[in-house]
Amino acid sequence: MQRQSGWRSKSKEDIKEIYGFAEGYKSFLDEAKTEREAVRSITRTLEEEGFGMDFSGDRVFAVNRGKEVMAFVRGSVDISEGLNIVVAHIDAPRLDLKQNPLYEDIDLALLRTHYYGGIKKYQWVAVPLAIHGVVVKSDGESVDICIGEKDDDPVFLIDDLLPHLSRKTQDEKKLGDAIDGEKLVVLFGSLPLTGAEKEPVKQYVLKMLGDAYGMTEDDLISAELEVVPAFKARDVGMDRSMVGGYGQDDRVSAYTLLKGLCGVKDPRRHCLAIFTDKEEIGSEGSTSIRSAFLHVFLDDVLSGMGIKADEALMRKVLFRSKALSADVNGAVDPTYQEVHEKQNACYLGRGPCITKFTGHMGKIGASDANAEYVAEITRLFDGSGIMWQTGELGKIDEGGGGTVAKHLAVYGMEIIDCGAPILVMHSPYELSSKLDIFETYRAFQAFFKA
Ligand code: MN
Ligand code: MN
Repeated sequence: MQRQSGWRSKSKEDIKEIYGFAEGYKSFLDEAKTEREAVRSITRTLEEEGFGMDFSGDRVFAVNRGKEVMAFVRGSVDISEGLNIVVAHIDAPRLDLKQNPLYEDIDLALLRTHYYGGIKKYQWVAVPLAIHGVVVKSDGESVDICIGEKDDDPVFLIDDLLPHLSRKTQDEKKLGDAIDGEKLVVLFGSLPLTGAEKEPVKQYVLKMLGDAYGMTEDDLISAELEVVPAFKARDVGMDRSMVGGYGQDDRVSAYTLLKGLCGVKDPRRHCLAIFTDKEEIGSEGSTSIRSAFLHVFLDDVLSGMGIKADEALMRKVLFRSKALSADVNGAVDPTYQEVHEKQNACYLGRGPCITKFTGHMGKIGASDANAEYVAEITRLFDGSGIMWQTGELGKIDEGGGGTVAKHLAVYGMEIIDCGAPILVMHSPYELSSKLDIFETYRAFQAFFKA
């Protein structure tokens, strides 16, 4: 276990390799700001790495409704011995446009949003924002939209009150109440449409949407448009040792998992990588880890191997599986150290954090990994020369959180949380350590190769 900065034992050559790995990671963060974009980026890499959708192959993948991916590498042992599974999530906190979002007021066109996941609302005002997503028209045609990422694109903004006038409305309130969810309204335009009598500014942006995407206002009802930060991932620090970027919870796990899996050739045990959706809202819904997609995918895997996939076999495969729930943990915050119990907390730069249990208020809602399995995983990491640490999420009763671990633990498989520590979690600009990103990748690969 790493009890001091891992950087202290890295050579110049190591640091070069670690920094090189982070370059690919930053590109991934920039092109995968939504779950659908993450799916496109992940499947493109999988195809480049010889994965296909024909289940008779050794390296296969499938996509669930454009928002979730499962990828499998065939091993040599009998599949009834179970799988090695690593699961990460590719959704991130954001603001979704409401289904009837657009209105005009005081000569401005505005969009109403409904936030997704646990955000601190005050962090989303007064920062440049982009709109990403899909509009599915009534005839079924779907149009991808991405505005605010190219250098010459416009960006969007949620306004905030000037300090001169915010005393009663904001400053005297509790931080969590200062910004009302209904006030997370996106500024969308201000030019009036010539000749329009009613709502000319709204008519103007609607005309632009019609010209650019062939869509009408009613098409927004069947759209999934996500408002995300418009900034790109960047190196942080004089020494460039950290990465700042949106959506690192949990795309740091998704990227390291993808790279880890792609490097696995002819493993002993069968390997399954899951890139799931809807973790940030409690793993509910048809693209979450709790949907039947896992069974549907494994049905196809088994038939691809010429095995009849009956329910008893499926139960056995899942029961005997070993899994890592690949999700981030909150690193000790340099300026708010008091929320952590520092003897049982994770730190930036000491490698992925193994978290035996999550949950809140006395482990409620936790999947508490078995001690035997904790020992197995730490032995594996030690044997593979991987830097790792262990920690809980914050002090007892300070708050808490959960991951998808408990949803896979119900099958009876061994599962433990393991992922990079990050700072400023769930904010528009999260922070990770390049060393942790690299060691997490090595950890997932070692797990698959075990
Ligand atoms: Mn997460
Ligand atoms: Mn999260």
